[in-house]
Amino acid sequence: MTLNQRDKKHLWHPLTQHKLHPNNIAITKAKDCVLYDENGNSYIDAISSWYTCMYGHCNDYITNRVSTQMQQLHHVVFSSLTHEPAIKLSEELISILPNNQEKLFFSDNGSTSVEIGIKMALQYHFNQGEKRNVLIAFEDGFHGDTFGAMSVSGLSVYNGPFKDFFLDVKRIPTPNGKNHNAILNTLQDIIKNNNVAGFVYEPLVQGAAAMKMHNAEGLNAILKLCKAHNIITVADEVMTGFGKTGTYFASDQIETKPDVICLSKALTAGIMPMAITSCSQKIYDAFYSDDLSKGLFHGHTYSANPLACTAALAGIELLKSETIKNSINTIINSHKKFNKHIKSHPKVKSTRQLGIIYALDLNIEMERYGNLRDKLFKFFLDNGVFLRPLGSTIYIQAPYIITQTELQKIYQVIEDALETL
Ligand SMILES: *Cc1c(COP(=O)(O)O)cnc(C)c1O
Repeated sequence: MTLNQRDKKHLWHPLTQHKLHPNNIAITKAKDCVLYDENGNSYIDAISSWYTCMYGHCNDYITNRVSTQMQQLHHVVFSSLTHEPAIKLSEELISILPNNQEKLFFSDNGSTSVEIGIKMALQYHFNQGEKRNVLIAFEDGFHGDTFGAMSVSGLSVYNGPFKDFFLDVKRIPTPNGKNHNAILNTLQDIIKNNNVAGFVYEPLVQGAAAMKMHNAEGLNAILKLCKAHNIITVADEVMTGFGKTGTYFASDQIETKPDVICLSKALTAGIMPMAITSCSQKIYDAFYSDDLSKGLFHGHTYSANPLACTAALAGIELLKSETIKNSINTIINSHKKFNKHIKSHPKVKSTRQLGIIYALDLNIEMERYGNLRDKLFKFFLDNGVFLRPLGSTIYIQAPYIITQTELQKIYQVIEDALETL
């Protein structure tokens, strides 16, 4: 039996309706930007395995560092004990995060990093004796699949069965350069009529909304208004963090800095699951007290796993290197060139780019997981490229170490795909 056949017996895959999509390709190894399957096919990983492995698969530098750490210390409880990988990571990460960030809280995935951000916002007010029970979020945002994260996600097509159990969330549109005043008026109304605790948002790029991009000045105006009302701002940089937008963090491109930042995905360079919720001194101080119950009583068994911390440290070292900085610039320029070439194609409705994130909307309507989308997905696979269209949007978020040959192949396959539609 093949791996693909054995897979079907006991495995239940994420975001999958197994009756409609029974087959999963069995990957047996991966190196740099290439995935190899059990039948000898290879695929360029054009989405960095859900935006994680930005320095490539099985990166020698990172895997050696983790392997050395493995001989020294695997894991210990992070409550009453501590260790150097977490301490070093805190020093390194704080040095590249926006200036106002001071403290790091660990968990294991993007959704939990958002849960913790929401808890920080709610308890911040609770600890000062203020009852604030409403959150604000963008339409079409995506923040994960746990309850708090689902509640703030606007893209909730698949959240139907759980809707009755959600937190109280009010939504505002994303700023597009023309609607600032309307958004600010809506926001004023929401603030006037509710006790708003926090605002949770993906800064500049909404990943799951098909790399929808919004206006930095408009976002800044929203953040300023939130700050004026002491609404805790929680930037979900799970997707945008660690260089994707052309700066270390998307928040670097916005004048008003968030109180809280959620990090995961590229944090550990695609090697291990880990997440961090960072916050400013102001947030931390609201929990610092002689009163035990004012602490943040949240914890995960694998918090600050030393191996994951080591992977993150090695990843940050690479991110700061001239080599990776140059690679990022090369990708940015290649995308720009490709964009010039493809944007007036009759099948292309619109295109957008921020940093190494590039997206192209087809002027053909497609369901998010519909037949046409599946056909497109298969076309890419058959041509050796792993790209997962989101409805009628094709997007690229390739590892920083991608070669020019691989990048050109991705562009060519996209262009060929347009001809088949
Ligand atoms: C992927 C993602 C999440 C959820 O992270 P998981 O690790 O899948 O739980 C949250 N927010 C954003 C912006 C994401 O892209």
